[in-house]
Amino acid sequence: MHDPDCLFCKIAQGKIPSRKVHEDEDFFAFHDIRPAAPIHFLIVPKRHIPSMAQLTAEHAELMGRMVVLAPQLAQQEGCNPYPDGGFRTVVNTGTEGGQEVHHLHMHVMGGPRPWARG
Ligand code: AMP
Ligand code: ZN
Repeated sequence: MHDPDCLFCKIAQGKIPSRKVHEDEDFFAFHDIRPAAPIHFLIVPKRHIPSMAQLTAEHAELMGRMVVLAPQLAQQEGCNPYPDGGFRTVVNTGTEGGQEVHHLHMHVMGGPRPWARG
């Protein structure tokens, strides 16, 4: 369920402070410490899943709910409405995929352009 050495497990459990965006039974969302856009937060499942590479059919419902949460939280955090506004979602997987923290997370980025990094 949790990995005692995992940064995002500790954040999701409140053991390491973060700027919380949302919490429910299954998910925790918090602002990225190094934002790449005016609005940049991360959604993590509370249970420790290292990356998308470990997903199986049993995760389908959980991941579906994570995707549905993204637009709700984007709106809550002030992303402008689609289609002129919108947001970017990114899930990095593995070293070559650019993943630095090995606890599955979805980046949600939005706000007026230009952004800090692309
Ligand atoms: P990734 O490269 O997809 O694994 O993304 C990891 C993200 O976690 C990066 O954008 C970091 O800025 C962010 N990050 C690392 N440590 C923290 C922290 N303590 N609180 C919030 N975000 C963090
Ligand atoms: Zn974890």
